[in-house]
Amino acid sequence: LKKLIFSSLFTLSLFASTVDRHTPHWGYLGDISDEYDIILPKDWGEVAKLCGEGKSQSPIDIKTSETKPAGDKSVLKFFKYKTSVDGKVINNGHTIKISPEFLNSYDNSYITVDGKFYQLLQFHMHTHSESTIDGKRFDLVAHLVHKSYDGELAVVGIFFEEGEENFDIKKYWDFMPKKRGEKNDLEDLDISHILPTDTSGYYSFMGSLTTPPCTEGVKWFILKDTLQLSKAQIGQLRAIFPHNYRDLQETNGRDIWER
Ligand SMILES: [Zn+2]
Repeated sequence: LKKLIFSSLFTLSLFASTVDRHTPHWGYLGDISDEYDIILPKDWGEVAKLCGEGKSQSPIDIKTSETKPAGDKSVLKFFKYKTSVDGKVINNGHTIKISPEFLNSYDNSYITVDGKFYQLLQFHMHTHSESTIDGKRFDLVAHLVHKSYDGELAVVGIFFEEGEENFDIKKYWDFMPKKRGEKNDLEDLDISHILPTDTSGYYSFMGSLTTPPCTEGVKWFILKDTLQLSKAQIGQLRAIFPHNYRDLQETNGRDIWER
């Protein structure tokens, strides 16, 4: 009997892996997989309807001649970005994601938008950048994802340009898992350094998640001040993710506020 159970379990798992093989899966140009067929960004509508049919999608090109002065709208403020926190650096197959371990707390690392609180959940990297400014695409962008108590998302985009070696992100980079699904522990993170010196100038607009399910109603902020990292550091990320950015989406007359 033991033998029989073993052999049927074996057959079952063999069958499961056969079914999994070539199951379509969303990804990017340049992704290589033996395990599934990759659906490229232009076809993500097959994965989630909104990615194809949404009218308020991200990323977009920000045309600086068409922005409007923010006035007293879209006021973004950063609070208590932590200088010492534990967390994880994760390769989820689409990006490198850093998740600090202080969920469900407004004691640290949050933003306010027009006075409303949004807690930092995680930040992750795209190369090249997703949004562009007057058609200019940056070498890399960090997306800082924040969530309010009622489930609204606010994402802050910070551009990186090739230049000096960045010792603050070196810590994440040194522990960056090369394989999909792997994660490493990080101790004593200083996430305040993911912010550039000047956080007062930015563009803001309504948009979406830039990966399936492409959910809309996301508040976007793209900071004007940038950070640097070295060519070797850009290369380290691109060795794992050669091209993990989504194509530009139509603005469809959306307002872009500038401060
Ligand atoms: Zn992102």
